[in-house]
Amino acid sequence: MATVLVVEDEPAIAESLAYSLKREGYGVQIAATLADAESKVELAELIILDLMLPDGSGFELLAGLRRLERPPAVIILSSRDAEADRVAGLETGADDYVTKPFSPREVVARVRAVLRRTSRAAATTGIAQLPLTADAATRRAAVNGVALELTRVEFDLLASMLEAPGRVFTRAQLIERIWGDNFAITDRTVDSHVKALRRKVSEAGGDAQLIETVRGVGYRVSDEPTAGLDEP
Ligand code: CA
Repeated sequence: MATVLVVEDEPAIAESLAYSLKREGYGVQIAATLADAESKVELAELIILDLMLPDGSGFELLAGLRRLERPPAVIILSSRDAEADRVAGLETGADDYVTKPFSPREVVARVRAVLRRTSRAAATTGIAQLPLTADAATRRAAVNGVALELTRVEFDLLASMLEAPGRVFTRAQLIERIWGDNFAITDRTVDSHVKALRRKVSEAGGDAQLIETVRGVGYRVSDEPTAGLDEP
C-alpha cells in the first residue's frame, strides 16, 4: 500500500487523518512543519497538505515538488473561505483539494481516487472504460460509444479534461490549453462552451453531469466508469 504524508500542524486533525488512513491500510507519516515535511517528501506517494504551517506556506512545498523526478500526488487542505487558495493550489500542480472542516472518510475517499488516477496514468492502460472519449489523432469524440459532433473548441475542452479524468481544471488552465495567451478569452467563454458540450452529450443520450462543475474552481470530467456523480 502507498505511503501518505500528512502535513498538518494541528495535532487533532493530523491524528484523525492518520488513524483513518492506517485503518484503510495506508502507510502514514506526519509532518507538523514545512521543514519536517521537506525531509519526508521522498517517502510519500501522496501528500495531504495544509497550506498554513508555522514556518511557511504549503505552496512552498508544492512548488518544490516539481523538481522531483517522481513527484508525489498532492491533496490540499483548504479553509472554507479560501477559494483563491484552491485555485492557486490546483494551478501549482495539486491533484485535488478538500475543504475544512472535512470528515476523515471524505479525505480517505479522495486519497483513494487520486492514487487510482495517478497510477492509472502511469500504467498507460488508457481510459477506454470511461463513458466519454476523445481521440486526439482522429479528433473523434463519443459518449457511451455514440459519436459527438463537436466544434474545435468543444473537442479541445473535452480532450484536455480527459487527459486527467477526475482532476479539477481551473478555467485559467483550460483557457491556456485551448487559446494560449489570448487575453480576449474570459471565464464566461469557457462556461458557454462547456454548456454547449453538455447539451451535445445529453442529446447523444449521455449524462450531461459527466462534465462536473466544481463550484468556484472549474470543471472536471468524471472518472467514474458508470455514473457521473461523485460529488457529495
Ligand atoms: Ca495549519
